[in-house]
Amino acid sequence: QNLPNPAIPAPAEIFGKRINSRGLDLSDSVALGVVAEGREDFRDHRWEFGPGTAVINPANHDDAVGTVAEATKAEVDQAFASASASGWGRYPVGERADILRRAADLYEANQAEFFALLAREAGKTWGDAVAELREAVDFLRYYAEQAEGLIDAPRGPFVCISPWNFPLAIFTGQVAAALVAGNPVLAKPAPQTPLTAARAVALLHEAGVPTDALQLLIGGQFVGGLLTSSTALAGVAFTGSLKTARAIEKAMAANASPHAPLIAETGGLNAMVVDSTALTEQVVRDVLASAFQSAGQRCSALRILYVQEDVAEHTLHMLKGAMDELRLGDPWDLSTDIGPIIDGAARDKIAAYVAERQDRVVHQLQAPEQGTFFPPTVLRVSGIEDMPEEIFGPVLHVATFHGEEIDKVIAAINSSNYGLTFGMHTRIASRVRRLARQVHAGNIYVNRNQIGAVVGSQPFGGEGLSGTGPKAGGPHYLSRFTQAGSALQTG
Ligand code: GLU
Repeated sequence: QNLPNPAIPAPAEIFGKRINSRGLDLSDSVALGVVAEGREDFRDHRWEFGPGTAVINPANHDDAVGTVAEATKAEVDQAFASASASGWGRYPVGERADILRRAADLYEANQAEFFALLAREAGKTWGDAVAELREAVDFLRYYAEQAEGLIDAPRGPFVCISPWNFPLAIFTGQVAAALVAGNPVLAKPAPQTPLTAARAVALLHEAGVPTDALQLLIGGQFVGGLLTSSTALAGVAFTGSLKTARAIEKAMAANASPHAPLIAETGGLNAMVVDSTALTEQVVRDVLASAFQSAGQRCSALRILYVQEDVAEHTLHMLKGAMDELRLGDPWDLSTDIGPIIDGAARDKIAAYVAERQDRVVHQLQAPEQGTFFPPTVLRVSGIEDMPEEIFGPVLHVATFHGEEIDKVIAAINSSNYGLTFGMHTRIASRVRRLARQVHAGNIYVNRNQIGAVVGSQPFGGEGLSGTGPKAGGPHYLSRFTQAGSALQTG
């Protein structure tokens, strides 16, 4: 039943669906129901990783998920010292790769616990949680594979700072890349999602990474500042806001070696262009996924939809109808489409932005009372120049254009100076080529949604203000974690 039909291109190439290692489509609800079973064991579990800060469920503030202890300055200093002395860089690369593969197996063996953590700590819907676990496993296996050909030498202690929106996948991707390249790692997950990271670290240790070679340092800006201003760091991998990336750059410039790289992935003002040759049903489905899946909390998410004037009214009408079918609520419930915003501060920022533009709201759903939700919202704007900044939530801006204005649209999109994802829906081949050539974006998607890049086949990362590269999940990523190896040059 799961045999691929050679006449049809692999689904991953058309719809970005996640396929597990047995060829099973994980977006299939029957398959989801089967793997959901073990998750119930963790419905009321509390993860205790030290005294101190409590982690609560963003969808239900009565649900205390666990506790963690924040790192102190002395612990950060000690972590650099023991990481440098860990000897990890002397492990043969094949052994480091085997450890990642073992970790991948352990992640899979513990997937039910991760699904529970992702729902309760990060507000991930069932589909998002499954996709995230698969992406984390893909990163481990992909970088293990890529490392086998690595001839360059490790750099030294790497600081990995990861975001709450992919607390397992991005956390794992950064750490796996740094480790397999031979660098000991000091990992600081986002303060909103430390528990998922702590479980991941425990499994990486179980797989064979020495505890000194991978250390978890929990905290917010204070701990992040200590880590990135250390003279002992050899490089930083960061995914998060542009503002934080700039602060890290400054701290590194003042203290770290001038050769220590910053590998940063930041945000975007991602656009999609829909012309009058597009199939409206397909556009609507892909806009819903791109703008509202994960409550818009992806840096790849669609922020502004440019629709050709002739089809705008019809497209918007269909979009509103489809939005009304979306179910917001507790992500534990398998039928929930849209979960919460990660915390009150993030929700308030989105709410304030929309409140200031109340006269432009063309459609808005209702949010549940419990927890920190924000309802999917559509705002009408004249163009990307009306958008002062990236709003990290389910807010879609819509603008219209006339057929002869396509050059102006391209110029406007490029003028934001971001360049992460770009989507287009058109059936004109020359227009596909033109847009793909002229729009500055790292990941360009044609006649599909623009989220959910697949490790190994769709390397992810942007240009301009969106990031430094190299792209995560691509063949050049590991090289930035290494330096030219003198041992091999003399050999
Ligand atoms: N890689 C994710 C995607 O393609 C986005 C990662 C992020 O939000 O940082 O949707």
